[in-house]
Amino acid sequence: MTATETDIAVVGAGIVGVACALQLARQGRRVLLIDCQAPGHGASWGNAGHLATEQVFPIADLSILKRLPGMLLDPMGPLRLDWKYLPKALPWFTRLLLNLRPAPFQRSVAGIRALNEGSLGAWQRLLGSIGGSDLFREDGSLLMFERPESRPLLEALQARMRQQAVAVQAWSAQQVRDAAPQLSRTIQGGLFFPRTGHFIDPYRVVCALFDAAQTAGVRFAKRQVSGGQLHANGVTLHSDQGELPARQVLIACGAHSAKLVHALTGKRVPLDTERGYHLMLPNEHERLPFAVTSLERKFIMTPMAGGLRLAGTVEFAGLDAAPNMQRARQLHRLSEGLFQRELDAEGATPWMGFRPSLPDSLPVIDQVADGRVLLAFGHQHLGLTQAAVTAEWVAGFATGGDTPAAYRLDRF
Ligand SMILES: Cc1cc2nc3c(=O)[nH]c(=O)nc-3n(C[C@H](O)[C@H](O)[C@H](O)COP(=O)(O)OP(=O)(O)OC[C@H]3O[C@@H](n4cnc5c(N)ncnc54)[C@H](O)[C@@H]3O)c2cc1C
Repeated sequence: MTATETDIAVVGAGIVGVACALQLARQGRRVLLIDCQAPGHGASWGNAGHLATEQVFPIADLSILKRLPGMLLDPMGPLRLDWKYLPKALPWFTRLLLNLRPAPFQRSVAGIRALNEGSLGAWQRLLGSIGGSDLFREDGSLLMFERPESRPLLEALQARMRQQAVAVQAWSAQQVRDAAPQLSRTIQGGLFFPRTGHFIDPYRVVCALFDAAQTAGVRFAKRQVSGGQLHANGVTLHSDQGELPARQVLIACGAHSAKLVHALTGKRVPLDTERGYHLMLPNEHERLPFAVTSLERKFIMTPMAGGLRLAGTVEFAGLDAAPNMQRARQLHRLSEGLFQRELDAEGATPWMGFRPSLPDSLPVIDQVADGRVLLAFGHQHLGLTQAAVTAEWVAGFATGGDTPAAYRLDRF
């Protein structure tokens, strides 16, 4: 492949990379999409499928300080830090804690909000343009609570969300029962978010976008990219099957982006991973009309084409440690008592994926090195939500668009 064959090489065929590749091809650019696996087999394969526009707050707040000891002691807790990973995670945690100060915290909220506010419209446009609107259900989502003593917490959250212009309704126990009659009668009520929704299968969304991208001229190469070099005419990527020249490169490798960013820009970006798990219950259909999160148990249940997906938990153990699938199986135990009839776990399949997280909870969406290197990674718990709007912003770089300072690489 010569540089003239490739205007832009997009490294990473997750939801972010594939959405960007499609938008770039639609601008008439010759796009080469590269991934070491088939498209959509990273975090984008097994996420909870929730268009989570209501989640405008950073991944941590001051309550994390109280929860830190538990994180270290309880291997099955919703938040887990592997002891062995602690030395590596410390600099990231230090930045995370510094980010809890009022000014940076508010900057993060504003940054997340700006992306989330554009997310629903961007997804409607993108899916509509590929004939894929049926992959998404704009039916809202519910955050429910069981313990009466949780009510003040929920009310405080509602007030904070209203301040951030999140569309939110307080639901009584009866309203929950009317909308989701299979849930347990012990549910006390919840917050309903009408401007959210869910995808019926996140992997199918990547595949649909990938098909559309190929139709728009995107070529795909299954390669492991190990590094790269900038030169006057563009960039040369080093891969396990030789060199790949291109005029520009977009780094969209999710949680694996840091090494390539360093190779091409010299910048060390504090990217880590919050590992998350899911348990897919293939026999569970029609249990829930929309995605439901438990406030106390801290996991989400999303109705999908292939069954009910239970997902969540955060584990800090890096990119190399083997998954602990007990954490995925634990999600079924966590669901006990939430329904009038327990969920059927026969044939359940566990999964682990790497959320790409930066300590200020904002992604990097930027162009550096005189426009030769584009960046779109670090979308933490919200990569599916924010992929379509990210792709619009990245495509906008070609027509003189720029992103605000909050998303730039040089903030680190
Ligand atoms: C349990 C769980 C639940 C989640 N739920 C939600 C949710 O409900 N809503 C939401 O919005 N988000 C959710 N997320 C987050 C979301 O899944 C991620 O933010 C998103 O998938 C990131 O997409 P990505 O394209 O950046 O990365 P990925 O999907 O991980 O894709 C990166 C790709 O880059 C490739 N790659 C990496 N390095 C190289 C290399 N050197 N050479 C070639 N290829 C390379 C990988 O193979 C991979 O295919 C969840 C995540 C988890 C784990």
